[in-house]
Amino acid sequence: MEYIDNSFEAVIGLEVHTQLLTATKMFCSCPNVFGKEPNSLVCPVCLALPGSLPVINFNAVKLAVKAALAINLNINKKSLFARKNYFYPDLPKGYQISQFQDPVSSNGYLIINIGEGKEKKIRINRLHIEEDAGKLIHAGYNSFVDLNRAGTPLAEIVSEPDLSSPAEAAAYLKELRDILVYLDISDGNMEEGSFRCDANISVRKKGDTKLGTRTEVKNVNSFKFVEKALEYEINRQIELLLNGGKVIQETLLFNSKTGKTESMRGKEEAHDYRYFEEPDLSPLILDEKFIAEIKNSITELPRTKRERYIREYALSEYDAEVLTQYKEVANDFDKLVDINNGKVDIKKIANWIINEWMLELKKKWAADNHERVIERAVEYNENSIPIEKVINEELIKFEMEKLIGKREYFFEMIMKIESGEINRNGGRLVLYQLIENVKRRKNQTVDEIIRDLNLAQVSDEKGLEDTIKQVFEENQKELEDLIGGKDKLFGFFVGEAMKKTKGKANPKKVNEILNKHIENYKSGK
Ligand code: ADP
Ligand code: MG
Ligand code: ZN
Repeated sequence: MEYIDNSFEAVIGLEVHTQLLTATKMFCSCPNVFGKEPNSLVCPVCLALPGSLPVINFNAVKLAVKAALAINLNINKKSLFARKNYFYPDLPKGYQISQFQDPVSSNGYLIINIGEGKEKKIRINRLHIEEDAGKLIHAGYNSFVDLNRAGTPLAEIVSEPDLSSPAEAAAYLKELRDILVYLDISDGNMEEGSFRCDANISVRKKGDTKLGTRTEVKNVNSFKFVEKALEYEINRQIELLLNGGKVIQETLLFNSKTGKTESMRGKEEAHDYRYFEEPDLSPLILDEKFIAEIKNSITELPRTKRERYIREYALSEYDAEVLTQYKEVANDFDKLVDINNGKVDIKKIANWIINEWMLELKKKWAADNHERVIERAVEYNENSIPIEKVINEELIKFEMEKLIGKREYFFEMIMKIESGEINRNGGRLVLYQLIENVKRRKNQTVDEIIRDLNLAQVSDEKGLEDTIKQVFEENQKELEDLIGGKDKLFGFFVGEAMKKTKGKANPKKVNEILNKHIENYKSGK
């Protein structure tokens, strides 16, 4: 990373808030869903009406513990809820129920990729449980309050200041999000705010061990913006120090239009949250068995999967990355490997998924959903997210799942190529038809598709001999040239024979027969 003065280095610590994918809110039974009519998902508890009392949502606790275990935190068998007091119109109680001393988990780490095949261990201070606030909607001179989000379960994950560059911060966020999404703990949606991050940042002279004064950039809502905000802030702090100034500890907002950070509130107005233990909730007590059960429910994480694909199946780094990017695809690949049971080289299966299946699905989906792609792309574009990612995400959300039931067919198609019943091109056509059939809700076996589209490969010697003889007759001049030594023409004859059989000839057989004839001609037989 290049800064305006490279004798400085950056120190970054992230506080990530993720909503938990529960059916109901943290302390009441209101539904936990996004995008409904304002104030339609509220009750006396989340409206803070006098006399109402909170009840802990145990599913939220389970998800928080699962997240904590996945990022190697120690689970604290006894933890406490606390009131974090502050005044804001989106917080009806006047305090947020959170955890302060004695959080549900502490002392973990996350391994991230920092480029050139290198990894780095980022320590995590804690993960604790809390509730979300409502939302303010500003329109002209008016502001409106929507309390649907008030009381949504949150996990806050606080890293140690171990990140040294904006790129590392982004890598950490991505790794964390991947894990939480894989385990169905979070939907990981930064744009909708269900996964968000406050970035703490300071700079110091390289070699210094003492931490500099930090600022905190609040609620940055995309990976790109996190990097941009940090980069701007690092340079701003360095410049300040170079000019003999001092960094003041303050809270900043990132303005995505100007690409700059702006002061939100200074230390003078810094909050004293007057934390104290929540008197309406007893301590949260978790036993060994509960923790062990959750531990056992944690499936293979993307990083482990990636490493296993490379180690056990000798897949390339890139292929392993693509296959594990979405858990639906990875799960499908795992199942195919199971069905395969050693019959076909696993690399071939991976290739078919990456280079044919996913690609074809993407093309088809983008064509069918042109308007939606444009619409989403415009939205995403404000966050500089590439179109490729839009298509991937939308596709996976809407289409991939439907195909999962077709994985036996997909495998059968690969086996038919292996056995020579159809050729690669035929395989592609089977695949397109399978994708079409999902859309049209048409059920057709692979055999039926092969029959309907007449894809069976022509391998019988006699038939191919006749075809090739015919090709020779029609291309006398080229044949003479080939015999005379113009070897380049060999491919031309293969192509002509394939054309005659409408692409269904077994190319290996065609090559054999052609070779035999040319050799015979050459040796004068
Ligand atoms: P608070 O709760 O007031 O925000 P914490 O001490 O819990 O403060 O720190 C919050 C985050 O700030 C953590 O992720 C931590 O790693 C990071 N942090 C603390 N000090 C620094 C610093 N000097 N520079 C960069 N990040 C820091
Ligand atoms: Mg903070
Ligand atoms: Zn409620």
